[in-house]
Amino acid sequence: MARKQLHVALISCTPDPEKTIARAAKTCYSASTVDELSEKIDQADQTRFIQMLLRVGHLSTIEHVSFTFAVEGVSRALLAQITRHRIASFSVQSQRYVSQVHEPGQVFDYILPPAIEALGPQAAAEFDQQMRTMQAWYNTWQERLSKDGGEKANEDARFVLPNAAETRFLVTMNARELMHFFALRCCGRAQWEIRELAWEMLRLVRETAPVLFARSGPPCLYGACPEGKKSCGRQQEMKERSEHLNDAV
Ligand SMILES: Cc1cc2nc3c(=O)[nH]c(=O)nc-3n(C[C@H](O)[C@H](O)[C@H](O)COP(=O)(O)OP(=O)(O)OC[C@H]3O[C@@H](n4cnc5c(N)ncnc54)[C@H](O)[C@@H]3O)c2cc1C
Repeated sequence: MARKQLHVALISCTPDPEKTIARAAKTCYSASTVDELSEKIDQADQTRFIQMLLRVGHLSTIEHVSFTFAVEGVSRALLAQITRHRIASFSVQSQRYVSQVHEPGQVFDYILPPAIEALGPQAAAEFDQQMRTMQAWYNTWQERLSKDGGEKANEDARFVLPNAAETRFLVTMNARELMHFFALRCCGRAQWEIRELAWEMLRLVRETAPVLFARSGPPCLYGACPEGKKSCGRQQEMKERSEHLNDAV
């Protein structure tokens, strides 16, 4: 069995992100020197400044802080979507450098969509079997291409691997890009896998920068759904999810 589940960790971020943003804002609005400013920012100031910046849309100030996540247990289908976000930086496990040849009976890691799992054990077993078939195709091409060996064989054998194949990557986004990402990808219209990833990323950054990300998430949290007739109609569910996102489990 090589089914994998989403795992995401916030592995680093700009130290003291909210203070950094407050300082950026104060630099814009204050006559003080940079050294004086660093002493003048207290907690109340920070909160007030960040709320004001978000309200008026002075968003270049929040670009000074960035967050790096390690993500695994996601599909290549997700990868195709998240890498459309151009203001993010990525380092992705390579299917050229990393061979997917496994011992007999073993299969590459992959993601089983919950909707297929919900069809019952027989459907899930059928999906597992399809993955084993693809593993066999992959092994065959590896063998036939092995005169070139290693990376040369990997880079063409991988063409028979599915969108379900697991991938892992590091992604870094600044706070402005993250907010944009959350608005698009926490939305009920986003595909289930990237939506789950986005909510988990939001939960993690809210622990580190609660004021900054207090109102992040899909646009329906604070107004009408911009999707119009295509709305998922789950505004209340989204609000509850956001409200309880950081409740202790
Ligand atoms: C529900 C949903 C369905 C989707 N379906 C499809 C689909 O069927 N086919 C498809 O191809 N894509 C699809 N996408 C992807 C979508 O079109 C975007 O490529 C993706 O969401 C990244 O958004 P973005 O370009 O706003 O963000 P980013 O690339 O993260 O950029 C952030 C912001 O920076 C600015 N920016 C970045 N680059 C430029 C630039 N070159 N010029 C001007 N401004 C720039 C824009 O304001 C942009 O919003 C879908 C996305 C969602 C959420």
